[in-house]
Amino acid sequence: MEVKNPTVKEILRKYRRIEAISHAENLLYWDMDTYMPKNGAEYRGDALAELDALSQELVLDPGFVNLVRRAEGEDLNDYEKGIVRVLKRDIEYYEKLPPDFLAEMARAATLGFQAWREAKEKADFKIFQPHLERWVEIQRKLAEYLGYEEHPYDALLDRYHEGLRYKNVKDVFSELVPFASKFLRKVLDSGAYVPRHGLEDAEYCREDMESLNRKVLTVFGADWESFRMDVSTHPFTDGVGKGDVRITTWYHGRDFRRSLLATVHEWGHAVYESVMLDEFAYTPLHTGVSFVLHESQSRFWENHIGRSRAFVESFYEEFRRAVPALFNYTPDDVYLYFNLVRPELLRVEADEVTYILHIALRYELEVAMLDGELPVSELPQAWNEKMEDYLGVVPPDDARGVLQDVHWSSHSFGYFPTYALGTVLSAQIRSAMERDLGPLEELVRERSYGPVRKWLAEKVHRFGSTFQPDVIIRRVTGENLSPEHFISYAEERYGKIYGLK
Ligand code: MG
Repeated sequence: MEVKNPTVKEILRKYRRIEAISHAENLLYWDMDTYMPKNGAEYRGDALAELDALSQELVLDPGFVNLVRRAEGEDLNDYEKGIVRVLKRDIEYYEKLPPDFLAEMARAATLGFQAWREAKEKADFKIFQPHLERWVEIQRKLAEYLGYEEHPYDALLDRYHEGLRYKNVKDVFSELVPFASKFLRKVLDSGAYVPRHGLEDAEYCREDMESLNRKVLTVFGADWESFRMDVSTHPFTDGVGKGDVRITTWYHGRDFRRSLLATVHEWGHAVYESVMLDEFAYTPLHTGVSFVLHESQSRFWENHIGRSRAFVESFYEEFRRAVPALFNYTPDDVYLYFNLVRPELLRVEADEVTYILHIALRYELEVAMLDGELPVSELPQAWNEKMEDYLGVVPPDDARGVLQDVHWSSHSFGYFPTYALGTVLSAQIRSAMERDLGPLEELVRERSYGPVRKWLAEKVHRFGSTFQPDVIIRRVTGENLSPEHFISYAEERYGKIYGLK
């Protein structure tokens, strides 16, 4: 990256302090979710809130804002333009939202999260209901403050993928949902449907599983001098800083694909973070990248590599060392176990085909709440009806139904679609990669991950936030975000597994 423009140079000089705060916050969050003693939560929460406020003050400092506005009118290269675009988005976000409203939103999120946790533990939606009612109002206000052309949902989606609109989401899902519903039906009727696989109960010893995860990441190309892996309640990735990217995984003592595929998923996020941090250290271009693009990277590694036949076959011996029960199973068995299509109650346990339906349900319900068409009091019933309609299963209680996800307690609406759109994009990216590198399965079979990483770095990662996400998608794939590649990939993979025509 080359920055020559003196105004942008001055912006970056000032930005170093904002970056330092974000670096500290990254580490505090990582620690909070890994090793911090439970009783440290309150003090940590306060410190993070103060750091957020400090960072916001620096972003809104009139001297800084003036520099960004001035740079906008100057003759800039692509990187300089990207820096100004990303900072302008941050500035406008804070300028549009009154401080009182930001504080109200933060408070509602904290209380909402606590209520949600209790409600989920007790499987009692009533505990959470008033908080969600409040949260829906806040989401409406948030959309009004941020502004939109056609639908309030546009304003919320835009936070997660700049330029994403409600009509884009509707277009993509109007093809995905009928596909996924029909496909699930065919799998259930195929005669090859597997309601439960023996390997889901096969136990492993945590140390052996950890060695397997480390071995896989080493073969993928992990540089353990710049990368680490720990354990947390829910797996996540934290790009702490240049030369320091961290993932977490989980171990349940059985069902080894959960640990392995979560590790591979987070690895996909981590590779993206480390390339961006290398290219764009001390600039805003390594932050603020679209959630759809980020998820496309984790899903690419998880689904297109981790669940592939070539991956299973090439690591089968290592799998056997970690999971003793595998002596009774062939690579074919493991491949099926990695790719079971099955209606699940929980989103996080869904396969990639039915996952689409879990997301469709959530985004439709959040739009209905936002529009005022669905009163929050009727949400549990609406949830259960849609579950029955889309997946043919009904949650036995709200903990395994409407209360399963944290998002509606403290995240903005508009987050959910990015998961499914990332999955869709990963298939599109795979097609583009195969046009350049040939069949991915062959590279995976040879454990040749260098070219894969290099291609992703050159085509996707090295732009960071330089361009708007849709521009990057078009540069990489030659087209707009579209479900066709995902549909044909899923028909091919799962059609073969389940013997469908
Ligand atoms: Mg992810």
